[in-house]
Amino acid sequence: MPTETFEFQVEARQLLQMMIHSIYSNKDVFLRELVSNASDALDKLRLEALRDDSLGADVSDLHIAIEADKQARTLTVRDNGIGMSNDEVVQLIGTIANSGTAKFLKELKEAEDSAATEGLIGQFGVGFYSSFMVADEVTLLTRRAGESQGTRWTSTGEGTYTIETVDDAPQGTSVVLRLKPEDSEDRLYDYTSAWKIKEIVKRYSDFITWPIKMAAEPAADAEAEDGSDDAPREPETLNSMKALWARSRDEVTDDEYHELYKHISHDWNDPLETIRLQAEGTFEYQALLFIPAHAPQDMFMQGYKRGVQLYVKRVFIMDDCEALMPPYLRFVKGVVDAQDLSLNVSREILQQDRQIQLMHRRLAKKVLSTVKEMRSAAPERYTTFWREFGAVLKEGLLSDFENRDAILAASSFATTHDKDGPTTLAQYVERMKDGQEHIFYLTGESRQAIENSPHMEAFQARGIEVLLLTDPVDEVWVDAVPEFDGKQLRSVAKGEVDLGTEEEKKEAGTEREKQQEEFAGLLAWMTGRLGEDVKEVRLSSRLTVSPACVVSDTDDVTPALANMFRAMGQ
Ligand code: ADP
Ligand code: MG
Repeated sequence: MPTETFEFQVEARQLLQMMIHSIYSNKDVFLRELVSNASDALDKLRLEALRDDSLGADVSDLHIAIEADKQARTLTVRDNGIGMSNDEVVQLIGTIANSGTAKFLKELKEAEDSAATEGLIGQFGVGFYSSFMVADEVTLLTRRAGESQGTRWTSTGEGTYTIETVDDAPQGTSVVLRLKPEDSEDRLYDYTSAWKIKEIVKRYSDFITWPIKMAAEPAADAEAEDGSDDAPREPETLNSMKALWARSRDEVTDDEYHELYKHISHDWNDPLETIRLQAEGTFEYQALLFIPAHAPQDMFMQGYKRGVQLYVKRVFIMDDCEALMPPYLRFVKGVVDAQDLSLNVSREILQQDRQIQLMHRRLAKKVLSTVKEMRSAAPERYTTFWREFGAVLKEGLLSDFENRDAILAASSFATTHDKDGPTTLAQYVERMKDGQEHIFYLTGESRQAIENSPHMEAFQARGIEVLLLTDPVDEVWVDAVPEFDGKQLRSVAKGEVDLGTEEEKKEAGTEREKQQEEFAGLLAWMTGRLGEDVKEVRLSSRLTVSPACVVSDTDDVTPALANMFRAMGQ
């Protein structure tokens, strides 16, 4: 079979260049990425073998093996997992499927300094390609379970890769790194040292549920004594394989939690928050959930995979188990391990299952209460949370009526009360003026646009606080939420606004009647002139500076919402 040469997709090529020139200072993570891929491949094989008797794959000794060769300066990471077909190798290794990549690469080019670059790389994670931080050539040999032929993929990371069909490949995948020439300045980066490998595995991959084995190095003096090094050496298992979610809080360090997060989320950054939950009783389960520190680029795109991983009694069952998380918490990552489910559960069964529904409710509540606590206990982290995920969370106000109050309690809003800081609804209500019955808000594109709106004038003049809502979803939820703490939400741009005390209103009322008569002719003329474009022209007390403004009826859609519906093709 001839060797064929292919070109990397443009984005892939750009990323590889960055890896080769090592803009990421922590090179050790390449091993974490390879082990993580191997672990995923073993999970997939076990599951497929469980579902498909005819697969004919040996699943008796699933593990990951690491081999270092000091003389040849190679490092091999091998697994006997699911492997890849020829097409899959081209698809998965030659291109970058992630839709956020283009945006990411653009930001990366604009990044000012190496710290900013590093932050971006971390946000994105580059998986397999990170091998090129330490290797000048990478060879991947793989055979998919159930197929007879294997594939060899080789590249130096410079623009092209070669593919070759191989007859006698073992099932699974091995990745051989030809390590870059030794950096004599920096002994820390000797990836042929068993000590170094052990240390990296312990640090990043201890919780991996498959054994990570490495042949023990011959003791230097033993070799000298009898001169033979041929006896097969028992490989050593480097990781403890303990499921973190099943261990008690005080047994696990934050770093260990964070590494698990990185493995399941493919994020290179620490999470913002770790949430543990252990349910005892008739339906026993453990959950370890994480709130990321950054919103993924594609969170608002269709097909964004939501949800957490489902395990049953320590066995990985599926990624992105949407039955466990409501859509508005789709950014939450983590693991849920249930004791009493069948290993054969399907997504369809899960959607129907009552226990799963209870679990879903409990997990959602737990996330919401954690966010609320975060606001008082760690305001800075809460600020990050709200910046990254506030807009998604508010979607829940439209879909999760049971948790509406909890969502409102975890939310915050920009306000005229404070130029820089947001407010909660509870704080707003506390500050409401005597006689003020409603919670006032105005929606718009930006804070500045809203503040300059003529609708704001009367409120500014009277010092009445107005919430400034700028997310597209704000247009919708404000109509779906009838009240907070007995107070209705009211747009300052809709219907009649009557501000002031009863007394003032009565006075204003008679005054208005007089004016209405006085200006009747003008109003009728204007209504006629504007014709179809308006329903009515009326006098108003809402303006103090501007001569006129357009308002909607209380039940009308706002202009911005009309735009949104139009954009959605409705
Ligand atoms: P990610 O793991 O985030 O998907 P990677 O770059 O690490 O990104 O890997 C890309 C894809 O290549 C994986 O999703 C997987 O489908 C495939 N892959 C990588 N390593 C292996 C492996 N050891 N066995 C099987 N498939 C693999
Ligand atoms: Mg990966």
